[in-house]
Amino acid sequence: MTRIAAAFMPVSASSLQESLEGTLAMMAEFFDVDTSFLRRNDFDRDLSVLIAEWPRRDPIPDPDPLGEVPFAADPVFGATRDLAEPFVLRPATSDDAYQERVEQASGVGQVSMAMVPLILNGVTSGVLGFVKFGDRPWEVAETNALQAVASLMVQLQARVAAEEQLQFHAYHDELTNLPNRRALLEELDRRLGHDGQRTALLFLDVDRFKSMNDSLGHGAGDRLLITMAERLAAAVATGDFVARLAGDEFVVLLHVPEAGIDVLEVAGRLLELLGEPIEIAGHQITRTGSIGIAEGRPGGAKTDQLLGQADAAMRVAKAQGGNRAVVFDRDLRSVAQERSDTEILLRTAIDGGGLRLHYQPEIDLRTGELLAVEALVRWEHPQQGLVTAAQFITVAEETGLIVDLGRWVMAEACRQMAEWRERHPQRRFTMRVNMSPAQLATRNIVQLVAECLTGNGLPGRLLCFEITEHAVMQDVERSVQTLHELKSLGVSLAIDDFGTGYSSLAQLKHLPVDTLKIDRSFVAGVGVDGGDRAIVDATIRLAKSFGLDVVAEGIETQDVVQQLLVLGCYRAQGYLLCRPVPPAELEALLVRGGLDPDDFASPAPVPVPADAERPRTRARAAS
Ligand code: C2E
Ligand code: MG
Ligand code: MG
Repeated sequence: MTRIAAAFMPVSASSLQESLEGTLAMMAEFFDVDTSFLRRNDFDRDLSVLIAEWPRRDPIPDPDPLGEVPFAADPVFGATRDLAEPFVLRPATSDDAYQERVEQASGVGQVSMAMVPLILNGVTSGVLGFVKFGDRPWEVAETNALQAVASLMVQLQARVAAEEQLQFHAYHDELTNLPNRRALLEELDRRLGHDGQRTALLFLDVDRFKSMNDSLGHGAGDRLLITMAERLAAAVATGDFVARLAGDEFVVLLHVPEAGIDVLEVAGRLLELLGEPIEIAGHQITRTGSIGIAEGRPGGAKTDQLLGQADAAMRVAKAQGGNRAVVFDRDLRSVAQERSDTEILLRTAIDGGGLRLHYQPEIDLRTGELLAVEALVRWEHPQQGLVTAAQFITVAEETGLIVDLGRWVMAEACRQMAEWRERHPQRRFTMRVNMSPAQLATRNIVQLVAECLTGNGLPGRLLCFEITEHAVMQDVERSVQTLHELKSLGVSLAIDDFGTGYSSLAQLKHLPVDTLKIDRSFVAGVGVDGGDRAIVDATIRLAKSFGLDVVAEGIETQDVVQQLLVLGCYRAQGYLLCRPVPPAELEALLVRGGLDPDDFASPAPVPVPADAERPRTRARAAS
């Protein structure tokens, strides 16, 4: 007993089997029996499973009549299913059929047997058995000793199982059961070590995951992650490795054989799988992923270097619109650095008063009257000076900074509007504010807008939110509900960049919007490109038939103005009319009430510089 207890002490999961077999051998010798065995009760499948035996039969018959034995098929194992006390069987007391079975399996005729139960928490978890060919009496002292060994074995099994459990938790992610960050780092260390293997690291991040978590709640996010984990795990070959790094980030390690493999092709396949729709809480959700790829060789790049490279490549994939894979190369090194600098600086700007709003007027082409202003965010960059939205909105959206940025924009636009309204009560115009998809998806967006309005004493009708089709189409049901709630505050809604999204014109009917802003790419071509003209024409007709306002964006030439007037679109915005300007300059326009139509309707072409954002107002008072 002491020897067995001592032998069990250092046993771990990997040495358990060997130790059990050694113990069986030692006991068989001690009790002078011919074979000994340990079996486990599988109550789920209602059978007894052989765990260890001595001596090991060689060869073991296949199928093994002793391997898995249904309780119902064997009276002895059946009797040991709930065994609580030692059980002794001798030739004289057992039936012939049983002895025959034993003979079939072992080739030995008459046997005697002693079995003692392994009892864990009051349940018979298995049996420890000893077989003597021919007859053998079993003293009570002997079966007591067997029982004591059995109980040592139970304790050992329970301890090893608990250790395995702990080990599993330490190396696996609880949500998806995939290997976790620690497991990944160790695996990667091993693969990149000197006797490792060439490995491609795929760093995968779910596109727009945060917006979904914000809008549908964490339960939905969890569901999505579990599904993606399952898809990834099922897709890779044996020997490849899938881990969940954190949040919505996964890493796949691919073994790269000497001949090489087309890693981009594998990545493409994974992206396709991930992009398949998932049904969550009654919603059809589609989320794509972005993959960054970096390749490492044994003795080459270190684990954290490789991870960082793949991460940087992943960010580039995101910046290019997501749902793609990008391989890390030298060029990416500087890009990645720049982006992370931008992120840090932008965060500082949002918190530290580094943002400005410029306002671009929307004009009635027939009269020059000011109808609305669009608030466009600008960043007072420490090195680059005033930076336009186009240059940093994508970074803000990818890093989630857009939510805080948008909150600031909304507050500032409302404050400014209240100020102008007080100073120019005779002017009736709308303040248009851009709302990004992530912002639309935040839980408390409606409350936030309501607070901004009441805080500034503004009626909702003075505010209009510009939303891209893309924002709405990501999750139509949910967006439509939010849009209705916003509308109930009195604010109006515009679809921005209309024509560039995926919405069919028919879907538009179901959206509670008031205005379509035709994307400037179509507007620019209205006089020269038949296709663009047809789109603009159709959009104007469509808007009219739905009773919507339509605004043409990006007017740069007088020719476009003429064409729009012919097509019946009177609301317009563009550099030709006025560039986005700081509040003081916009106020000057407010004082005058708008522009003089002669200035932008005259046939002489007006060159538009593409760079500087200097105002090009052609107001009467200014000339
Ligand atoms: P948008 O809402 O379609 O805004 C119009 C963009 O076109 C503005 O660029 C404006 O300066 C530019 N633009 C106006 N007239 C012309 C023209 O005649 N020709 C050309 N080529 N461009 C013209 P900006 O300010 O850089 O903004 C870019 C985009 O960034 C905006 O497109 C909008 O989607 C987004 N954005 C701007 N401000 C905000 C904001 O406060 N919040 C959010 N979420 N997005 C914003
Ligand atoms: Mg806009
Ligand atoms: Mg636009």
